[in-house]
Parts: sequence; structure tokens; C-alpha cells
Amino acid sequence: APHLNFLSLLTGSFATPAAENPTVAMVEAAYRHHGLDARYINCDVAPAALGDAVRGARAMGWAGFNCSLPHKVAVIEHLDGLGESAALIGAVNCVVRRDGRYIGENTDGKGFVAALRSVTDPAGKSIALFGAGGAARAIAVEAALAGAAAITVVNRDAARGEELAALIAERTPARGRFVPWQPGCRVPEGSDIVVNATSIGLFPDVDACPDLDLDSLRPAQLVVDVIPNPPRTRLLREAAARGCRVLDGLGMLVHQGAIGIHYWTGVDPDLAVMRRTLEDIFGATEA
Ligand code: NDP
Repeated sequence: APHLNFLSLLTGSFATPAAENPTVAMVEAAYRHHGLDARYINCDVAPAALGDAVRGARAMGWAGFNCSLPHKVAVIEHLDGLGESAALIGAVNCVVRRDGRYIGENTDGKGFVAALRSVTDPAGKSIALFGAGGAARAIAVEAALAGAAAITVVNRDAARGEELAALIAERTPARGRFVPWQPGCRVPEGSDIVVNATSIGLFPDVDACPDLDLDSLRPAQLVVDVIPNPPRTRLLREAAARGCRVLDGLGMLVHQGAIGIHYWTGVDPDLAVMRRTLEDIFGATEA
């Protein structure tokens, strides 16, 4: 008789709110496509219950889980260790069981760099990074570790922007500097890659665009948006109209999910299957 196994590999997500997070659909599409007996359980976990949720995952033998807002920093005290970039970023969005220990990783920045590499090598590039929140920190650290030469942080809140620029300058091989975000500002001179890492343009605010001089964008520049929904943001449309190459936030979302699946199962999932699932959810676009 064939060997029967009714015990699935368990993974999932702890966040609140959780109902609008499409990651479960994307990850389970990959699990099905690869015939993996694995589940991804999307859980709405209140801040006060996070410790219990992590203990529950341990008790049930979960292979790992994603953490999203508001748990990315708070989860660290419940873990057994941190990966290199997660320690630098100071935030965890993906927990991986290794030798029975829960290790915190950050796949947001790794997903960004993986998506970027599908278009260009970040090594030696100058990056203009708009934003200094969690996504921007992850992007800055991973881009710096991937060999970016210089990162100019442009942010509204000066204290946050200066802190991120100092992190880059002092703890990574890249040059880091801060420029206060003046409305209508020009893109910093010499930027090869321009990144929107703010929440501007996220559904339902789809007509919003980062307040910069769009005519200072150059056709040689690559413009990247972290916003996954809608994939074709106003910024990307304006940049494409000015001859720039563009990269949408679905790429980052798909790649960070794929890195998590690789950590949990050892399988490198089919990116197209995952992207198609998200496009069906967010509305198909090409960017
Ligand atoms: P945070 O709240 O940590 O940071 C938000 C950032 O946006 C801050 O720098 C903030 O500036 C800036 N910002 C917001 N509104 C404005 C505005 N009106 N003008 C200028 N700056 C503004 O959020 P996260 O970094 O966690 O997330 C940012 C976005 O990234 C989200 O929309 C999320 O969807 C997306 N994201 C996408 C991922 C993907 O895989 N594609 C992964 C992770 C996030 P200030 O500091 O001045 O307040």
C-alpha cells in the first residue's frame, strides 16, 4: 500500500487587519501548482495576542509564517534569532523554522531586489528613495547589501529620513544621505533608479502621485513603485509617458512571497503562477 500522510506543512500570516491581504491566494496557488501538501492560514491577530499566536505556531509545528502590520517589530521578542538584513532593518515580515528555532527574516527588501534584478543589476547604481517607513528601510538595506553605490532618502518627516540615511551610511557599504521632501522637488541629480516607497497611490487613492517634478524624470531612469494595488500607479503612468522604464509593486510582492515559500518548503515557486493570481485579484495590467 502507498504511504499515506495526512499531515500538511503549515504556514500562514499574523496581521491585523487581515481580511484584505491577498497573500494567502498567491501562496496557495503556488502550493497547488507544485503539488505541495502545504497550507497557508491567514490569521487576524490582535497586538496583545501576538505572543500566544507565535507560541501556537510553535506548538502546532508550523514551518513558518509571515508577519504584517502591526507586528513586524513586536514579533522580534518572540523569536530565537534574526537574519542579517532583518537585524539591520529592525523588522521581520517572514519567520522561518530552522533546526527547531524560529528565525526572523525580512523578505520585503529581498523581494524588491529580486524584482529589480529582473530588469537591472543594482550594483553600482544611485538610488533616489522616496519614503523612510518600513518598506523603505527594507529596500534601502537590501539594495545597499546588493551593492548599490548611493541611496538618497527623500522623506517628509526629517527625523525618520535622517535616521534611515544614517543607517545606510554607517552600517552598509553604500553612501547614504537625506534630502527633505519639498513639494514639487526635482529628482536628485544622477539617480539611476527612482523608487516610490511611500503609501501614496495605494487603492482607493488611485489618482494620488508623489509630489515631485515629474518633468525632472529622465528616460534613462528606471522608476519603481512599491504599491501593488493598483499595479499601474499614476507615478508609473507618468514615468512611462516620459520614456522611463518602470517596474510595478506586484513584482516585489510576488518575489517576497516566493522567497518565503523557498524558506519554508525548499521549492522555488513559479513566479508567473503567483503573479497571475494577484493580477486576477487586482486587475490585470502590464507595467
Ligand atoms: P509606513 O507607514 O511605515 O511608511 C509610510 C511612508 O510613506 C513614510 O515614509 C511616510 O512619510 C510616507 N508617506 C505617506 N503619506 C505621505 C504623503 N502624503 N506625503 C509624503 N510622504 C508620505 O508604511 P510601509 O513602509 O510599511 O508601507 C508603505 C507602502 O509600501 C504601503 O502602501 C504598502 O502597500 C507598500 N508595500 C508594498 C510591498 C510589496 O511587496 N509591494 C511590501 C511592503 C509594503 P513620513 O515618514 O513623512 O510620514
